[in-house]
Amino acid sequence: MTLMRFDPIRSASAVAAASIGVAALVAVFKFIAFGITGSIALYSDALESIVNVVTAAAALVAVRVSAQPADADHPFGHHKAEYVAAVLEGALIIVAALAILHAAGDSFLHPKALQSPGQGLIITAIASAINAGWGSYLVGRGRHWRSPALIADGRHVLTDVWTSAGVLAGLGVAILTGYQWLDPMIGALVAVHILWSGTRLTMGSLSGLLDEAASPQLQEQIQATIKAHAEGALQVHDIRTRVAAAKTFIEFHLVVPGGMSVRESHGICDRLEDALEAAIPGGEVLIHVEPDTKAKSAGGLEI
Ligand code: ZN
Ligand code: ZN
Repeated sequence: MTLMRFDPIRSASAVAAASIGVAALVAVFKFIAFGITGSIALYSDALESIVNVVTAAAALVAVRVSAQPADADHPFGHHKAEYVAAVLEGALIIVAALAILHAAGDSFLHPKALQSPGQGLIITAIASAINAGWGSYLVGRGRHWRSPALIADGRHVLTDVWTSAGVLAGLGVAILTGYQWLDPMIGALVAVHILWSGTRLTMGSLSGLLDEAASPQLQEQIQATIKAHAEGALQVHDIRTRVAAAKTFIEFHLVVPGGMSVRESHGICDRLEDALEAAIPGGEVLIHVEPDTKAKSAGGLEI
């Protein structure tokens, strides 16, 4: 007898698409568990799953859009599609968290007994087992294909398994002790956790939409590369960078002796562009040439 390895999916993007299907299945299970019990804790767990389905789908679309090459109406490329998707996801996550907090507050004010809590716990446990298996599979495939996105996706799924385990344990205690307030309490804790991750996602991506500069380390590397390859020029100033997902746009003024020929100064520009695009992954360089009368007395990078 030969042992077949469980490996039905052979490409990273197919796994990413399958991930959406698994997340949808898990969300359906969790909503059934909430529907049976009326538990706020299970409601929060189910809404978190829905958020996962939507974010996974949005991420897949965003990655495809941002990979489109530059064209006439978007000459700098479509990289920022990823930021737009992330801001929308973040906003959605925040709405889900507020919905849970609202339901939790309602349940504190008007407590209701949980219906068939045992069934709800079992269904949620099954859904979490599916998630645990799928998360481990994703991490394994991600390592095999060296795909950081897949590994991150798998880790996220496994994190959700821990959230669900916490929800189940808390609900179990609530059922055993009869402390009904534990249910909305757990739901509210999950909501705060979701609110925090949604806010972080939104803020990080808004900064990218507002033309965030390259990191200080990258800026240092840019300056060092310019200094090492600008022989013949006098000074570089007004260095500006902006990051769009995988691209880093770099522009600056290059001061050369006023009598230098256009051909010679252009040679320096070509050398700098080649060096920077080799040193900075995804770098795109634009250089403005100036005569020595335009040199700045302070703040310039002397060559
Ligand atoms: Zn376009
Ligand atoms: Zn200048």
